[in-house]
Amino acid sequence: MSDCIFCKIAAGEIPAKKCYEDDLVVAFHDIHPLRPTHVLVIPVRHISSLAHVSAEDEPVLGRMLAVAQKLAAENGSDDGFRCIINTGRIGGQEVPHLHLHILGGPEPVGPMVAKT
Ligand code: 5GP
Ligand code: ZN
Repeated sequence: MSDCIFCKIAAGEIPAKKCYEDDLVVAFHDIHPLRPTHVLVIPVRHISSLAHVSAEDEPVLGRMLAVAQKLAAENGSDDGFRCIINTGRIGGQEVPHLHLHILGGPEPVGPMVAKT
């Protein structure tokens, strides 16, 4: 997608602090980190959200999760981490290119969903 910011990051067309890259996924540090460790993992190929995946996407979905432990440990969260995939309006997704948040650091991430 030509106007997708995460496609541009994957292609190296706009800068990001990349920390991992392979044939299926790219990982980089969130521009507004919510925890000391806040890495985003995205598919190289544009997929709008978890609501837009099909069976052919299973390898890339598996890779996104399979690299999480290594990325968390390498980026300051070697004693656990949290993965979040916000999806669509109800899920609070802001960037319409599938992404996995990896959150962590030296302290517990906190409640799974904020209590209001
Ligand atoms: P969402 O709310 O869609 O799940 O999360 C989108 C995330 O992307 C947010 O945490 C936001 O800070 C991050 N983000 C948005 N634009 C950019 C960008 O240009 N570069 C980086 N590194 N992160 C971004
Ligand atoms: Zn995209």
